[in-house]
Amino acid sequence: MSGLNLAQLQAVHYTDGPCLVLAGAGSGKTRVITHKIAHLIEKGLAPRRIAAITFTNKAAAEMRERAAGLIGRAAKEVLVCTFHALGVRMVREDGHMLGLKPSFSILDQDDVTSILKDCAGGTTDLATARQWQWTISNWKNQGWDARRALAMAGDDHERSIALIMQRYEERLTAYQSVDFDDLIGMPMRLLKGHPEVREKWQRLLGHVLVDEYQDTNATQYELLKFLVGERARFTAVGDDDQSIYGWRGATLDNLKKLPQDFPQLKVIKLEQNYRSTSAILRAANNVIGPNPKLFPKTLFSELGEGEPVRVVPCDNEEHEAERAVARIQSLRAAANPPPAWKNFAILYRANHQAKPFEKALRKANIPYKVSGGTSFFDRAEIRDLCAWFRLWINNDDDPAFLRAITAPKRGVGHTTLGALGEFATQHKQSMFGALFNAMLPAVVPKRGLEGLMEFGRQINELEHRARHTHGAEDARAFLTDWLKDIAYEQHLYDGEDSEKVAAARWSNVLEFCDWMAQRAGGQIDDAAGTTVAPTKNLLEVAQTIALLSTISEREQEQDMVVLSTLHASKGLEWPHVMLVGVTEGMLPFKLDDDDGRQQKVSDDIAARLQEERRLMYVGITRAQRSLAVSWTKKRKKGREMVACQPSRFIAEMKLDAATTREDPREKLRQLRAEFAAKAQAGAGTNP
Ligand code: ATP
Ligand code: MG
Repeated sequence: MSGLNLAQLQAVHYTDGPCLVLAGAGSGKTRVITHKIAHLIEKGLAPRRIAAITFTNKAAAEMRERAAGLIGRAAKEVLVCTFHALGVRMVREDGHMLGLKPSFSILDQDDVTSILKDCAGGTTDLATARQWQWTISNWKNQGWDARRALAMAGDDHERSIALIMQRYEERLTAYQSVDFDDLIGMPMRLLKGHPEVREKWQRLLGHVLVDEYQDTNATQYELLKFLVGERARFTAVGDDDQSIYGWRGATLDNLKKLPQDFPQLKVIKLEQNYRSTSAILRAANNVIGPNPKLFPKTLFSELGEGEPVRVVPCDNEEHEAERAVARIQSLRAAANPPPAWKNFAILYRANHQAKPFEKALRKANIPYKVSGGTSFFDRAEIRDLCAWFRLWINNDDDPAFLRAITAPKRGVGHTTLGALGEFATQHKQSMFGALFNAMLPAVVPKRGLEGLMEFGRQINELEHRARHTHGAEDARAFLTDWLKDIAYEQHLYDGEDSEKVAAARWSNVLEFCDWMAQRAGGQIDDAAGTTVAPTKNLLEVAQTIALLSTISEREQEQDMVVLSTLHASKGLEWPHVMLVGVTEGMLPFKLDDDDGRQQKVSDDIAARLQEERRLMYVGITRAQRSLAVSWTKKRKKGREMVACQPSRFIAEMKLDAATTREDPREKLRQLRAEFAAKAQAGAGTNP
């Protein structure tokens, strides 16, 4: 337990009741969790009786690794995962209580949108369907089902969405599928409504630890309460100043409720920041200053004053990107040996801002990765393949059926699929089930029918073979045969105008297959925290992958500059950070509404400004040694360039005037221009 201060030690050693560690950024909250896992195991709690809940799968992987560094192999058995992954496990084990087969599917966002469109008769545009999706998700996060939503609906608009939600729920039941929110909602219903399930989980879990507690939502909190039960052996760590997921239903009420719901709660505050220099920390404290204080906190650093925080004014985004690259190069040139690329991060408000930086980095031959962007598993080709797996595992998964039968296309047209869909609904069967209904030939045109039957045969045969394919080598052979059989490579080339793009997509497919084969060989663990990894049959692998594909992000530790949204940077740290686009209207993001976009009724401008400020605070506090904050004098808005101001947060950092740096090249350009003008003026009078 070395490397912990007194307050941290106190938090680690308190294991018999509820504990809240409430502290600012970089004060070692996450470190408390990893050390506490180690301590609990040393005290004799079986590793599999400990659950540590993190905000992302990546954070989970990192935590498992750190814990293993402290106590070795035993850490592998600890259940370290996100709330969603925990939900997957609970639903898999006990979902039958709610009428769900263990082979259920998890729908991704696209599946949900298209089901919703379908529920409304198929004529809805994408934006509206997304809006419904958002509303329904919010309701679910509050623990509402369609019946409740219908009862609570305030107007006709809400009532109509509640009705769609009702149909949506029916579809999900028919498809034996769940969506993301169900992965929290269902476990909660299981624990609430089924005492035997509740007792089982409460008996199993001897201690539950939650990182980034400030960003949990109402259902997650309920779930936590049911998981820990009366004994309430849990540790939550968080920082109210870093709550940045309000827009996704996270609520600070969870922090406020904790002392009320658990009067015996031990609250521990940490005050020393071990991450950043004083200059950086001061800027962070100044920025968060104007926000109302839920819990007063102080934070100091002993790492010395360090480099002043730089403010970098830029002409436009391209210029900003050039300057960021120049900064990376000069910081590397200034140190011997030069720091590795992965020590640098460029952070921004919104995904689309990455583009100019990607271009500039590429031009300068600097390796980089975009984190929090489209993950490997979100790529269309990988999702196509996963649709096949989903169908092997759960024949009732209609969205997977529709995706698999059209990727690649096999002469089954819309008319055929429409007829099949209608027939299936009439006979209360899934689309796949309906293929084998003797009455089907009467309603589907002959040509289409052949395509359908062929597909059905293929799925059955493959499923059978997958079940009997064990180990890495067999899996690799099976996957190669399968892709050849369905001519998937050809399908990619047919669908892409550019050969280069098709080739890149095909190489993703190969990489994916390789990865799958390794899993079949037991070389890679499964994400839900179960870490025993014997060889598996391919169907088992497919099952974890199909689940994983919707919840996981695969990341590799590589030496690359990181480009990330501020949201995705939570909990992480880098020696050198550049916060870019710190321009009024970008950060804080436009608060008023002049571009006609629909605003949510509940939106309260003051509250949104506070959340934006917390986002800035999160950004600043990612930096360990150097921080540069840049803004642009102009930015693109539609087709126009509009004049911009520096973000109000820059003034709020209260930096010394000397820290604002004009581009030295700018100065040079200016001098040259003056010189040229003088020369010209001189030419007129005095040759
Ligand atoms: P955030 O709020 O950003 O999630 P955090 O409170 O979780 O931050 P950690 O990530 O746990 O903070 O710690 C920040 C840094 O300080 C890490 O590099 C960690 O290793 C280091 N650190 C934490 N506690 C100590 C300590 N007692 N002594 C030395 N270094 C420490
Ligand atoms: Mg942390």
